[in-house]
Amino acid sequence: MIILDSGRVIDPANRIDGTRTVLIDGDHVREVREQAATPAEKLVHQVIDCRNRWVLPGLVDLHVHLREPGEEGKETIATGAHAAAAGGVTTLVAMPNTRPVCDSAAVARFVAARGREAGFARVVPAGAITRGSLGEQLADMAELKEAGCVCVTDDGRPVMSAGVMRRALEYASDLGLPVMVHAEDLTLSSGGAMNEGPVATRLGLPGVPAAAEVTMVQRDLLLAEMFGARLHVAHVSAAGSVRAIREAKERGVRVTAEATPHHLVLTDDAVAGGTPGSTGQPAAEPYDTHAKMSPPLRSESDRKAVVAALADGTIDAIATDHAPHGPLDKQVEFVQAANGVIGLETALALTLGLVRAGELPLTRALERLTAGPARCFALPYGTLTAGAPADVIVVDADREWKVDPQRFHSKSRNSPFTGWTLRGKVTKTFVAGKLVHEEGK
Ligand SMILES: [Zn+2]
Repeated sequence: MIILDSGRVIDPANRIDGTRTVLIDGDHVREVREQAATPAEKLVHQVIDCRNRWVLPGLVDLHVHLREPGEEGKETIATGAHAAAAGGVTTLVAMPNTRPVCDSAAVARFVAARGREAGFARVVPAGAITRGSLGEQLADMAELKEAGCVCVTDDGRPVMSAGVMRRALEYASDLGLPVMVHAEDLTLSSGGAMNEGPVATRLGLPGVPAAAEVTMVQRDLLLAEMFGARLHVAHVSAAGSVRAIREAKERGVRVTAEATPHHLVLTDDAVAGGTPGSTGQPAAEPYDTHAKMSPPLRSESDRKAVVAALADGTIDAIATDHAPHGPLDKQVEFVQAANGVIGLETALALTLGLVRAGELPLTRALERLTAGPARCFALPYGTLTAGAPADVIVVDADREWKVDPQRFHSKSRNSPFTGWTLRGKVTKTFVAGKLVHEEGK
């Protein structure tokens, strides 16, 4: 047995926040108890002193781009899963927009097998909604489910045809698969490079209006309501989307949603080189392409609405949308630059920053990183309940560290948080009772 002795255990699913000792027996949690490790236990078991540490369920990240197969220069399943483990993420859902697209059992099985071989975080594949994610013909979702996919999504692009989306929702509903949507009306967003608003006007950059997201969220909520499937809205960025999801939940529509750390912490001001005043972090360069993503960073009122939605349960999960890109994709003009940033190794510390800033209660924030996302896709992780898989992290919550992407385990360096001083570092990560990452090793 491994005994994590006398840490501050926070397990939101079981409403635990206090000094506890966690017993790991093989691949599962045996017990979380108040009593410290006994002298007798110290003789026969591996006892790890967790005083002055937090002990949490491993994080569950519903939205990760691993780039393998096809773009292994940006990230591989092994390097991405290693970055996950270093960031405390013990389960990640791998997006299907690889080359080839994960629209068949063969690719889904490949991704899962590579994840198992790597032996870091659990790598769970997501399948495509449509073949090649082209938005036309439905993928064989039964085959994808059979191969281990936990949801379907064409993430990276929307399903523009409402008719195709209706059939996708009906089909997925029969199979019990949630449909994750990248909500973007391309007829509104096309040509845009950042959030439409005063900052874009000042910088002379073409804008993507919030309406490009909100109209598609509204459409998909309506379709999910009429045709019965479970909808999951990826990377919510706009206040209008929050309002629509909140109202839909009140009506009983089966919808869940996620938000990314960068949309929780940054606004479109980052494109002009600004950072939110309260963070005290160094400013970026204007037109920094690390502030370019889809959906774009929005206004401060959008950011506030998304944070409030996490606090009140309208948004269920924090997901990174970890999107590795090479220097050639980012060291170009802003309008030409690729969308997306990496996030696996900064998500926890950024979330704890929101807690310290008084924007989110601690237990709520940790729930949205663990049990909340697990619930969205009915995954058996994100809790320290007796008998649950022993995915556990040990965190030095007070440790200050400077973000230096050169030291990341990810193959890519495209973080918008380079140079930021964050607090909270994962020191040990266990997956299925095995130590898969230890800080400094
Ligand atoms: Zn997306």
